[in-house]
Amino acid sequence: MNKNKCIDILLGVAIGDALGVPVEFKNREYLKENPVIDMIGFGTHNQPAGTWSDDSSLTFCLAESLIDGYTIEKSANNLLKWYSENYWTADGEVFDIGNTTLKVIIILKCGVSASESGLTTEQSNGNGSLMRMSPLIIYLKDKPIETRYNLIKEESSITHAHMVSVIACFYFVEFGIGLLKGKEKFEVYKELQKTMPDFLRTQSISEKEIKYFERLLVSNINEDEEDIIFSTGYVIHTLTASIWCILTTNNFEEAVLKAVNLGQDTDTTASIVGALAALIYGQSQMPEKWINTIKRKDDIMDLGDRLFNS
Ligand SMILES: [Mg+2]
Repeated sequence: MNKNKCIDILLGVAIGDALGVPVEFKNREYLKENPVIDMIGFGTHNQPAGTWSDDSSLTFCLAESLIDGYTIEKSANNLLKWYSENYWTADGEVFDIGNTTLKVIIILKCGVSASESGLTTEQSNGNGSLMRMSPLIIYLKDKPIETRYNLIKEESSITHAHMVSVIACFYFVEFGIGLLKGKEKFEVYKELQKTMPDFLRTQSISEKEIKYFERLLVSNINEDEEDIIFSTGYVIHTLTASIWCILTTNNFEEAVLKAVNLGQDTDTTASIVGALAALIYGQSQMPEKWINTIKRKDDIMDLGDRLFNS
């Protein structure tokens, strides 16, 4: 694997995130009138241009725990360090956090172990574990499928332990691994439709839970109109919208901006799209001015370097 792919993924996450931060929670109608076409500052969180949020912070925290010799305890510790000590923040401040992640931080602070801290209710299925998964694309690429699934399940379950969140994370990492191995995006999409339901059944996952992913696993989502693509913080919405953005665009810039302009959870959707688009198009196709605007660019590139060498 090319070292640059590690750096590309992390840059892709940060760029997508930073593009979405100023318009997080804006609805689609607003963004139709005022589309984001460049990396702007301020807005929703009043942060300067290039500031990334929890999506990137937690991605970088996970990358650090992989470099450090992964255990869920190390990963949970990094999560606490981010929240309490501003570890891997863009500007020394945590200004964005999901509900489930916040609840779990309180649970962890009370001394519950990382293997038992995750929320398991239907309502806890925000995109907070999906948003941090992309370093696992690198880390798991050559591991057997059972190892990939089990580690993704473990990591997601620190915060998001419901099976819907676990499956969403697994689908995303598998999609990324397909791209990392040089497969064409539609080939990856079709291959997952063939292989994923059967694999999930081997893990005793119920048909009810598999059915949640029916649109991705059965239909040609690229043929769907935008008005049935949802972009809330619900993990299935984020995953589905992200794959739709990837399949319906042809370059990095178009993919991440399409994700932002869907509205609502703009930064998370765009950061997920940013990771996948980075694998398809690479850094050479990312607008240079965006790369140069993101906060802590050199630290992010160094992290990608260390992830490659770990
Ligand atoms: Mg965010």
